[in-house]
Amino acid sequence: QLAALYIDIDEFKSVNDALGHAIGDELLKGVADRLRGCLRETDVGARLGGDEFAVIQMPIKNRSETTRLVDEIHSAIRQPFECMGHLITTDASIGIALAPGDGVDLDQLLRNADLALYGAKGDGRRTYRFFETGMDQRAKTRRSLELELRQAISDGSLETYYQPVVNIEDGKISSCEALLRWRHPERGMISPAEFIPIAEDSGLINELGQWVLNAACAEAVNWPDHVRVAVNVSPVQFRSQSLALNVAAALAASGLPASRLELEITEAVLIRDDAALDALHQLRKLGVRIALDDFGTGYSSLSYLQRFPFDKIKIDRSFIRDIAGPGASSSIVQAVVNIAAASDMTTTAEGVETAQQRNLLYILGCTEMQGYLFSPAISAVEVRRLLLT
Ligand code: C2E
Ligand code: CA
Ligand code: CA
Ligand code: CA
Repeated sequence: QLAALYIDIDEFKSVNDALGHAIGDELLKGVADRLRGCLRETDVGARLGGDEFAVIQMPIKNRSETTRLVDEIHSAIRQPFECMGHLITTDASIGIALAPGDGVDLDQLLRNADLALYGAKGDGRRTYRFFETGMDQRAKTRRSLELELRQAISDGSLETYYQPVVNIEDGKISSCEALLRWRHPERGMISPAEFIPIAEDSGLINELGQWVLNAACAEAVNWPDHVRVAVNVSPVQFRSQSLALNVAAALAASGLPASRLELEITEAVLIRDDAALDALHQLRKLGVRIALDDFGTGYSSLSYLQRFPFDKIKIDRSFIRDIAGPGASSSIVQAVVNIAAASDMTTTAEGVETAQQRNLLYILGCTEMQGYLFSPAISAVEVRRLLLT
């Protein structure tokens, strides 16, 4: 029995884009060395091109030997790299196919390992997967969604909805967050949680992101002056050198003052490299506000607060959901509120669904809230009605 591993290095591309090919090559060599360090005499490793590697682990007695190797590879690759004066963090997604079950020749094994890799990337948190039958079908579905999404950007089946964010104390709307909705002709409503990752993988997110930005700015011009619009920006959009330029273009085209636009970014942006930080400062110079989204779900959250002076922290829904429970959620929220207040940031609680949660958040000193208790995301027409009457 043997295992074929298809390994894709993550984070690497942005490093390459940002810091030039020299550092890219240097980093790749480092990755290759660490990979080699995990292999036995009888295993074989190869670079497939780009930032992709293959490992044939042979012989193996069972799949837990492969899981062990995967763990080893992950811990080797996740050690930060000191590379030409930069400290860089990388990760790897790994797809695995086993012979003879998943294929008898190397070609087929690697193809199936690649499909498993695709699956690993698709489910977000998991960084490796074994091949399963049916994965080729799902890959096909994904590819067709990608094609249809490309179409949807131009044919009007995409729409931005807006969810109001209100001041906890007086319930007044301070901003509205633009959230994408896709009305698929056959499948009905498709959640952004499903299609945003596809758009990110295919690079389509840049077009999509620009589309939302334009739509949101154009809509917000109709709102009262004190109401801002918040737009989500994917980490992938930070890889393009022109993000600040694109934002400036959306503001100019709509006539919306920069101070009424807020961009929501996640910590994933900050773990990449210094170029992303530069982009954030450029955006700040334009006069737009920057919010840290989904706070608490990522890596080493608190340290990121030192890297950039955010205007706002959005506390992830998972903490709000448990806030009245016996766990540590309410002390975590309290700590975040305190830290934010000490650095002149406001806090928004996400996913507030009950009056009890609202009351607790008020006592804890949270500034704003967003959630079904006040309103779900609603259409542009409904928002106007809400704001203008
Ligand atoms: P997010 O940025 O964390 O957006 C908040 C999500 O929570 C939205 O889901 C919203 O509808 C949902 N939500 C709001 N209040 C409540 C509540 O009280 N209870 C519960 N259970 N859920 C609530 P939605 O619209 O499905 O969006 C999911 C995610 O997709 C967003 O999470 C965001 O990460 C992404 N997304 C949506 N639109 C865009 C976009 O234009 N660009 C990018 N890059 N990502 C987007
Ligand atoms: Ca990669
Ligand atoms: Ca958001
Ligand atoms: Ca969020």
